[in-house]
Amino acid sequence: MDFKELGLIEPILKALSQEGYSNPTPIQQQAIPLVLQQQDLLGCAQTGTGKTAAFAIPILQLLYQQKQHVPGIKVLILTPTRELAIQINDSFAAYGRHTGISHTVIFGGVSQLHQTIALKKGVDVLIATPGRLLDLMSQGFINLRHLQIFVLDEADRMLDMGFINDVKKVIVRLPEKRQTLFFSATMPPEIQKLANVLLTNPAKVEVTPVSSTVDAIEQSLYYVAKQDKNKLLLHLLKDSSIANVLVFTRTKHGADKVVKILQKENITAAAIHGNKSQNARQNALNNFKNGNVRVLVATDIAARGIDIDDLGHVINFELPEVPETYVHRIGRTGRAGNTGIAFSFCDADEKAELKDIQKVIGKTIPVNSEHPYPLAADAQPTPAAPKQQQRQHFKPRGNKFNGQKRNDKRKFSPAKG
Ligand code: AMP
Repeated sequence: MDFKELGLIEPILKALSQEGYSNPTPIQQQAIPLVLQQQDLLGCAQTGTGKTAAFAIPILQLLYQQKQHVPGIKVLILTPTRELAIQINDSFAAYGRHTGISHTVIFGGVSQLHQTIALKKGVDVLIATPGRLLDLMSQGFINLRHLQIFVLDEADRMLDMGFINDVKKVIVRLPEKRQTLFFSATMPPEIQKLANVLLTNPAKVEVTPVSSTVDAIEQSLYYVAKQDKNKLLLHLLKDSSIANVLVFTRTKHGADKVVKILQKENITAAAIHGNKSQNARQNALNNFKNGNVRVLVATDIAARGIDIDDLGHVINFELPEVPETYVHRIGRTGRAGNTGIAFSFCDADEKAELKDIQKVIGKTIPVNSEHPYPLAADAQPTPAAPKQQQRQHFKPRGNKFNGQKRNDKRKFSPAKG
């Protein structure tokens, strides 16, 4: 199937071809016609499936085809993180470049001045994180009277990140007559309840659960003692075919430590985590994307929603405690049909996590023992590993690997060729 068959208009087709997209992804194939028919939509899909374009493209088309141009915000997209908000805004810029439809993005952690200037000029599409949206609404900068379409993106993460009450506060301010598109990777009860309240006779679309995307990624496991992990990382990075790599640590402090060690060995590296300012995080990300930095070290929270095209490698410097996080981490690589490679370090304290991860992905990760720092065969876990301290901030998300979905072997076979 190509995009033309979805009934898209020329200005959008032209932009998609400039983006290098030749075929719609499965979620785009399903969602675009439904949104164009102005139906409410419940989309079970995660980042990496092409879900942003699945809603951005038909929204742009609906706005473009409106006969009368009513001034004011016609589309509101709520998303949990600044990084996602920026990416969605970039998507509207890319797909809408020949449509003349205006859009802007607002998020917290930065001065509101540029955002309010953009709002005053008037925009068709507003992309926002919940806190800043409420803040600017209460200051009178935002009027949603003319809203036609509301998109709630990553609803389950809104819940994880404690934004659900803010989301509810926004919802009560929306006009009742509107089209609503609701996206969530998982459907815990509270999110299901919210979907029931928000949606009217929704069409449902569901694509590849993460468990099967993982099959496309070449995974290997390195048993290594905790104190040898730095050396093993440096050893692996001697391979110049590793052009860029995203390294995951469990803690912010751990991320900073890894960056220091790499920089000492003249390897370009930067960290992104919650203690860094929004500007520092964006700079690190930009430098990584444009190739000035070879290694980006991140904690799970900071890496949420970050989209890096052509990421070749992911390294789990430490295994995550929540097994599903492993799938999210390695799913950063191997996007849009590229092959991805994921290395995972496992020390004596992490064997329980490894077992859980392998249960979730339904296979044993192949072990690479051809490295200079193998874990001694009789290595025992440290008696008092400080697990509880590290656990306290993490709230496991709903398990999407239950029942049917777990066995769903449909693949996201993107759009090339
Ligand atoms: P998303 O799931 O929205 O985060 O998108 C994941 C990545 O896939 C982004 O880098 C998009 O630019 C890319 N993408 C989305 N749709 C297509 C498509 N039809 N063909 C190729 N790449 C795509």
